[in-house]
Amino acid sequence: MSEETLSFQTEVAKLLRLMVNSVYSDKEVFLRELISNASDACDKARYLALTEPEILGDDPDFKVHIRVDKAARTLFLSDNGIGMDRDGLISDLGTIARSGTSAFMENMSGDASEDMQMIGQFGVGFYSVFMIADKVEVTSRRAGADEAWIWTSDGLGEFTIAEAEREGRGTTIVIHLKADEDEWLEESRLQTIVKKYSDHIALPIMLAIDDGEETAANEASAIWSRPKSEITDEQYTEFYHHVGHAMDDPWLNIHYKAEGKIEYTGLLFVPSRPPFDLFDPARRHAVKLYVRRVFITDEAEGLIPSYLRFLRGVVDSEDLPLNISREMLQNSPLIRHMNQAVTRRVLTELGKKAEKEPTEYAEFWGNFGSVLKEGLYEDHERQAELLELVRFRSTAGATDNGALVSLKDYVGRMKEGQEAIYYITGDDLQTLENSPHLEGFRARGVEVLLLSDPVDDFWLSAVFEYDGHALTSATRGSTDLSNMGEEAAKDADDTAEPAKEGDLATLIALVKQTLGEAVKDVRTTDRLTDSAVCLVADDGDMDMRLERMLKAHNQLKTDSVRILEINPKHDLIKNMSAAATKGGAADDLADLAFLLLDQARIIEGEALPDPAAFSRRMATVMAKAAG
Ligand code: ADP
Repeated sequence: MSEETLSFQTEVAKLLRLMVNSVYSDKEVFLRELISNASDACDKARYLALTEPEILGDDPDFKVHIRVDKAARTLFLSDNGIGMDRDGLISDLGTIARSGTSAFMENMSGDASEDMQMIGQFGVGFYSVFMIADKVEVTSRRAGADEAWIWTSDGLGEFTIAEAEREGRGTTIVIHLKADEDEWLEESRLQTIVKKYSDHIALPIMLAIDDGEETAANEASAIWSRPKSEITDEQYTEFYHHVGHAMDDPWLNIHYKAEGKIEYTGLLFVPSRPPFDLFDPARRHAVKLYVRRVFITDEAEGLIPSYLRFLRGVVDSEDLPLNISREMLQNSPLIRHMNQAVTRRVLTELGKKAEKEPTEYAEFWGNFGSVLKEGLYEDHERQAELLELVRFRSTAGATDNGALVSLKDYVGRMKEGQEAIYYITGDDLQTLENSPHLEGFRARGVEVLLLSDPVDDFWLSAVFEYDGHALTSATRGSTDLSNMGEEAAKDADDTAEPAKEGDLATLIALVKQTLGEAVKDVRTTDRLTDSAVCLVADDGDMDMRLERMLKAHNQLKTDSVRILEINPKHDLIKNMSAAATKGGAADDLADLAFLLLDQARIIEGEALPDPAAFSRRMATVMAKAAG
């Protein structure tokens, strides 16, 4: 029969180069990946057999066999799972189908050890076998098909595919070990690792050395169906690696049996490192659905809310019918109930961690906080609960190397007379901390939350208060600071008196007249201490940053007109007031009025509508100062 030679997809070739030259110390994971694949293949066949029992033929018991041939220096691994047909072999073992793969591969640095770290988030999969093999043969027969195919490769860019013989469904992998990889032939070593990587798997894994008798290497019961007390941390971790295609340790595991109206077992993990596809636009979750120990699908829409998509693990229902189709799942009220119950459980566990281990919780927050915050606008029912779990940087903690603040902490520290919770949003913490809008808050010791995550602008439009306190932007309209806290003890050079009221009124009238429709209003403020001016949004208007973001995404065409606030204690404002009253040169004052507005725009991060005019006025003023 003719043999065909094909090339690996670019991404796979890249991955293989890493594997072949691996400096990775943990080579034994290849066995985990192969056992994992065999177990998944058996799960899929078991599911298919629910509707097509004839695929089982005379081989109804799912099993994996591992055998060593010391003389030939080969390892055999065979399963009677779903198998692959010719197309399956080519696409499954020649490409990587997961979304986001090429973006991920492009990010690889070329530094082998760094890249292996990154691969950890990605899951190495089948290709990891090339860490220890210089040739691999995969013979497979798809369940229900008559013909079998053999896939062969040395992992160096090409593979061949040809027709083959195989008795019954499933896949056999023959691994030819590299010259210095004899350790995978040693009986005791092999027994230990096979046990380690299969103990949590619900499928019997049989191990034989040469012509020796086969022995069962694992318990072969689903780990989540066993009592917690009988499961070691290592077994949990191994199961997480298997079910989550992950290499990190779980940050948290949640294992429980729900009894009552709906019965199910949950074994869920929160990773300690963000999976590479966390921000994939599909926002799909990755928890597998089982029904009474039978795998149903890893795409049960609606089982887990998108804002918990970082979870990995299994939900095993006692109530769903075994032969439920994937389409029926979508509308199943039982799925909805489990979603609610799982969500409640996970949020409770996160709450406990937040309370008892704030430092560890901060790590979780760094990884998944942005995702969890999506729940604030997607899950109104749980908004209050989620508000207890969110953490922020604030003016109270920002200098303290990134300490995180909860809303409860914030409320506990509110100043006498303070009603609202203040926040400011922006692109990065540094800019936020330096924002002139915060000067007056700082002077009075009023804490402001610093929100620099893009998702913040979205949930802020859905959350209005916490514990009876309105969430209020520090850049917004009528914030009155005068009845909150005392302005901080004034230092020697802060004895500044404000400009005279009458002078200010004249200046304000003049600036208003000059700027016309470019501003909604001009008024004095106690928001500023060091800066001369700032822009604020009127109470009913859109937040300035949100408007900028929407405009950047072409979702908004119009500009809102802002209020220009001036600091009556600032020398510039005082001098301008005096000059306005004295009837100073009108042209000069007009230039200064425009410059005030442009200055406020620049601080706000807005583009100047007429940079040439700005530059011309600036040059005039500078020429006078230099003259
Ligand atoms: P992953 O398991 O993360 O999808 P792998 O590279 O390990 O990635 O495997 C790629 C695909 O090859 C699997 O998703 C599966 O469809 C197929 N596959 C691998 N091993 C087997 C097997 N023993 N039986 C059937 N299909 C398999």
